[in-house]
Parts: sequence; structure tokens; C-alpha cells
Amino acid sequence: MTFASEIHTFHSGKPQPQSSSSSPSSTFTSVDPTTAKPLATIYTTTPSQLDDAVASAHAAFPSWAQTPPPRRAAILLRAAALLRQRNDELALTETLDTGKAWSETSVVDVATGADVLEYYAHLVAGGLPGQHTRLRPDAFVLTSHEPLGVCAGIGAWNYPLQIALWKSAPCLAAGNCMVYKPSEVTPLHANTLAHIYIEAGLPPGVFNVVYGDGPSTGAPLVAHEGIAKVSFTGQVSTGSKVASQAARGMKGITMELGGKSPCVVLPDADVDEAADVAMAANFFSTGQVCTNGTRVFVPDTLLARVEEALVKRCREGIRMGLPRDETTNFGPMVSAAQRDKVNMYIKHGRDIDRAKVLYDGASDAQETKPTRDGFWVAPVIFTNCTDDMRVVREEIFGPVMCILPYCAEGKTQEEWMPELVRRANDTPMGLAAGVVSSDISLAQDVIRQLHAGITWINTWGESPAEMPVGGWKMSGVGLENGHEGIQAYMRTKSTLVQLGKGACKDVFAKL
Ligand code: NAD
Repeated sequence: MTFASEIHTFHSGKPQPQSSSSSPSSTFTSVDPTTAKPLATIYTTTPSQLDDAVASAHAAFPSWAQTPPPRRAAILLRAAALLRQRNDELALTETLDTGKAWSETSVVDVATGADVLEYYAHLVAGGLPGQHTRLRPDAFVLTSHEPLGVCAGIGAWNYPLQIALWKSAPCLAAGNCMVYKPSEVTPLHANTLAHIYIEAGLPPGVFNVVYGDGPSTGAPLVAHEGIAKVSFTGQVSTGSKVASQAARGMKGITMELGGKSPCVVLPDADVDEAADVAMAANFFSTGQVCTNGTRVFVPDTLLARVEEALVKRCREGIRMGLPRDETTNFGPMVSAAQRDKVNMYIKHGRDIDRAKVLYDGASDAQETKPTRDGFWVAPVIFTNCTDDMRVVREEIFGPVMCILPYCAEGKTQEEWMPELVRRANDTPMGLAAGVVSSDISLAQDVIRQLHAGITWINTWGESPAEMPVGGWKMSGVGLENGHEGIQAYMRTKSTLVQLGKGACKDVFAKL
């Protein structure tokens, strides 16, 4: 077993089992999406435990904030090393909890979290940036960046460990403390992460974990008067509620929300390249990735060939199977609720939107359910889609690709590009976008016009620690990763220093 079978609130450096005198404990289970069987029992954080978690973070804050950045960095580097040492155990936990294929979690999920710890450790090791500006010979302005205090992190279920690290690494590196709430759907990683931080030398109270759903634990955490900032990852609708609640306390926010991103194939694209990018943009992690390029724009001149290449890849490349098998690259949906939601959209696309089904893995002989009770949904490709279809407009968060043809036949670039860009931008969301082309400057020209915060040319999905990521429009507020990611956990203090006495002597003397 790679995780505890009973998981409790973690604060003050250790798990906090509820006392037998506390009111009847409420628990929930984490469920294995492959078998629908429970994996572990999690005790919902009680209101008094939530207060204690925030209080333990406040108690730890003054000393952690004063800890020299190189010492903070050394602890974060040790935590990263422990994560890498325990990669297989943590990856297996993620595979069991989310249903993601081991072929992904063993190389992506833990490593991309450790990368961010190392990145911020190195960034702060030489001290946090400040500025010293000389105003005149006898005065200068000192600008320093200070931690905010106790920050709340709230995570989604699709990259549980990675999200916890993308929030906690810059937060702790900047000298803040954190109370983290993982998604109730995939909570198993957080307890192990909290122990790893302690083993690495993080003082008790600097990183704390509370458990429960949105109404019972997330909302009171956001509203708690001891919280200075909320970093949230989840749906647009939830993010809007969280941002409103945070605004009541004038708290800082970072919002990493949903998307409906365009994957734009230009007329000069190589067909195989276009199909490979569109597959990665839609079916990695069984389609449960926020930045997925689910609206695939294909010129009429390439449509038949791109469709053929996509069907071939679905038939030959997708290996739906038990997530722990090394050859599997397509697992189940994370939960029964997510399976039902995705199936609802597939039915809607077919029966109400009347999109043409190019590929349906469920009826394809290649795709059979690997287990009876798992939350399986086979990949689906709709083609000849139009911009007004519900499957084209709403985030599905599952393996459903929509191909939107555009007219390039007999048209000049000046004729096809404006309409293509207008359609690609025709969404209230603006998380990601990508372009496939053989001409980098042409691709750049299109990228420049797309309304999205995270963009790719001739690839999809890679998001290294150095790359600031965040959505435009309804897809988010603020950025994670890169230099911007740590600035989100600091505030600026400017001090004008007057050398010598007498600067204010004449202010009233003249009146
Ligand atoms: P969700 O909004 O349902 O839940 C996210 C988190 O918010 C959970 O921990 C939940 O318990 C909590 N929550 C719910 N109501 C709350 C409330 N009122 N107050 C405080 N917390 C509350 O999202 P989800 O279904 O877990 O995740 C999928 C969504 O996350 C998708 O829309 C996806 O696009 C998005 N996502 C975005 C990014 C990004 O970086 N932009 C990354 C991953 C996932």
C-alpha cells in the first residue's frame, strides 16, 4: 500500500485524528476509478480543525518568513529529492486515485512537481529580489518584496500532486505558510506530501492539509479571516464563487480555471504532424486536461487526410487498459460523475447537435472495457462541427475531439486568416491555444492574434517550471510558474529613505 488507509487533517507537523468526543465524524472515500472500489477513508476536517490548521500556519509564519531564503531553498531541494526518490510510489498513488495511466504518472506527475520545487528553490537561494533607486544624493527608494502570510491552496482532481506542488512551492519559497485543500475526488497524495515536507526539514505548521468538499471545507477556508490569499484550480463556475468570497475579505487570488481551447491546423501543415498534435491535445490523460485543444480547426484542403490520420491513430495508438499496465496509455474517467457528464455530452453531440461521428471507440472493435465496473469512456471524434454546437462551446473534460473545418480552398492567406482567427477566439474562455504549421513565422502571426494565455506551436501540453501559465478571459486570473508565479505570493513595500536630518523642517514653516 502506498498511502494510508485512513487519512486525517494534517497540521502542526502531524496528522490530527479527531478525538472521540468530537461530534460524529464525517468521512468520505477515495474511489479507484478502475474498479469503483474504495481505496481509503478520509476524515472531513471539522470547523475547529480548520481553525487549528490556520492557527498553526500563523504560529509558524513569523519564523519561516524570517528564515534566510538559502535555508528555505535547501529544505525545498530536499523535498524535491525525496519526491524523486519516491517517484514510483507517488506515481502509483496518482494512478490508483485518478485512473491515469502509469505510463504518464511515472514520468510526468511527480517529476513536474519536483521540477517546480527545484526551480523556486534556485530562484530564491540568492535572496529575494529587491530594488534600490537613488532619488537624489541624500535620498533613495528601497523596494522590497515580502510574503503575504497564510495562503490557501485549493486543488482540482486531474493533476493532484502536481497542483499541490505548483501552489505550495512558490508559496513556501517566498516565505509564506499554506493550508492546502485537495479535491475530495483525489485526496490521497496530500498526506504523503505533507510528511515529505516535514522529512525534508520544513518546520511544523508551514504546510497543512484540510480535507472535504467545497461547501464543507473549501468555502470556510476561503472565508477564513486568517487567510491572506487564495490560489484556486477548478471549474470556471466554482472559481467565480471563490473569487467573490475572497473579494469580501480583499484577499489576493490566483484562479486557474477551465478552457475550450483551439488547436489550429494551418493549410501548409504536415498532415501527420497535425494529427499527432491533435491527438496529444485531446487524448492525453484521457482528455482530462484543462489546456486541451478540443476545437480542432482544419482547412478543407487537408480535412480528409487529417481525418484519416486521426482515425488511424485512434485505432492503432490508443491502448485503453488497466492504468497500472505499462502499455496502457488511456485509462478510465476519474469518477462515475465525470463518466456520466462526458457520456451526456457525447449523446448530446450525436443526437441534438447532430455532429458527424468520425470515430467512436465504444463501437470500434479495438476498444472494449478493461473492467466491468470502471468509469470507462472510449475516445470520440466529431467532425463537420459548427461553432454553435454545445459540444463545441462547453468544456467537456473528457476524450471528445471536435473538428471544425474552415475554407481555405482557392483563398489567399489574407482571406482565410481573419475568419479563422475570429472563430478560434469565439469563446468566453482563453486558457490555451496552439498552431500547427510548416512556417514558424506564419504560426507566430496566428498565435499573436489568439486570445489565450498558454500557447504552443507544433506541439501541445508541455509546461515547464520556467513557463508562466494562466488563462485569459473566463479561464483565470494571475499566473503560476516562472518568475510571475512567485510574485503572486509576495507583496511590495516601498520605503523612501532620507539621509540626514531636516527634510520636513520647512514644510510648515512657510505657511
Ligand atoms: P471544481 O471546481 O469542481 O473543484 C475544484 C476544487 O474546488 C475542489 O477542491 C472542490 O472541493 C473545491 N470547491 C468546490 N466548491 C467550492 C467553494 N464554494 N469554495 C471553495 N472551494 C470549492 O473543479 P474539478 O472538477 O475538481 O476540476 C476540473 C476543472 O479544473 C476543469 O474545469 C479544469 O479545466 C480545471 N483545471 C484548470 C487548470 C488550470 O491550470 N487552469 C488545471 C487543472 C484543472
